[in-house]
Amino acid sequence: MSVKYNFCAGPAMLPPPVMAKAQQELLDWNGLGVSVMEISHRSSEFIALAKQAEADLRELMSIPDNYHVLFMHGGGRGQFAAVVNNFLGDKGRALYLVSGQWSKSAMEEARKLAGDCQIDALNIVENINGINTVVMPALKGSGDEYRYLHYCPNETVDGIEIFDEITSPWPIVADLSSTIMSRELDVSRYGLIYAGAQKNIGPSGLAIVIVRKDMLELPQMPQASIMDYRLCAEHDSMFNTPPTFAWYLAAEVFTWLKGIGGVKAMEAINKEKAARLYACIDKLDFYRNGVAVANRSRMNVTFQLADESLDKAFLTEAEAKGLLALKGHRIVGGMRASLYNAMPLDGVDALVTFMEEFAARHA
Ligand code: PMP
Repeated sequence: MSVKYNFCAGPAMLPPPVMAKAQQELLDWNGLGVSVMEISHRSSEFIALAKQAEADLRELMSIPDNYHVLFMHGGGRGQFAAVVNNFLGDKGRALYLVSGQWSKSAMEEARKLAGDCQIDALNIVENINGINTVVMPALKGSGDEYRYLHYCPNETVDGIEIFDEITSPWPIVADLSSTIMSRELDVSRYGLIYAGAQKNIGPSGLAIVIVRKDMLELPQMPQASIMDYRLCAEHDSMFNTPPTFAWYLAAEVFTWLKGIGGVKAMEAINKEKAARLYACIDKLDFYRNGVAVANRSRMNVTFQLADESLDKAFLTEAEAKGLLALKGHRIVGGMRASLYNAMPLDGVDALVTFMEEFAARHA
């Protein structure tokens, strides 16, 4: 098979060594003669895997001891609801910063579930001369005005990333689905971090939740037991049968990431990948990115062709060269190259070479 580079926004490519190991272990994991999918989550072997995965994630992200790490069902959207149900009982209020499609969806889900609670929203992206720019308001107020402030540091659809860690009088809840472990961040600044797994962690369906222990004292709404953070923490994420295969693959991704030097080393590679692609876009009038330089996503590089009538040819020819899934999200159109942790520098170089050559041919 010729080399393929998969730029899909999610479910995204996983590190090839992880996939090769999973393939090798598929029918016989750990010498048990069966796969990891076919054993009890309460077996000593699986519990050892779960413990190691948590320890590795704690090490990779420097997660302090006063945080629980939960492996949950339901992906990113499951957490849109869980956050509301776990923190807004008893008529609480929350503030949502809206910077693109995913934070907007999180806010809409919160409003749907809010009942008597109040969900305030602040749009933080301004279109300045055709360039989407994050304009962060000063977040001021009394500490008990809101139970939490929700925001999404990387908007997967819009290609907008907020790199500065924000300061807020209220606990910060962050949707890190598409940026987790791509760069260093100070977990102690957050009340809760969540991420759907299918970009930088493993297969879809799984969600990682990192929650400060005192947040679990907030009043809850009635909710499905499997989404209850307290129950999940009390039962070591095994209140019901967890997605064991996804958990296993996540554990393998953590081992892989540690092997290449952890998040700091990964961040340096990710910076280089994004820099090479944006340099190509900026150099050629043929392509355009409509996001302020300071807010350009490192994980999801969105771009448009100056002549949209060439979109189809661009995608077809890219695919023929093994450059897959470059079509932008249907809401925003154009192109999107997702450069998650598993995408090697070679993939970006292959894409840049193709883009230069395509532009030259169609100039
Ligand atoms: N948040 C962000 C930032 C996302 O990119 C996505 C999925 N692309 C979601 C939430 C929703 O995740 P899921 O499909 O796992 O519910």
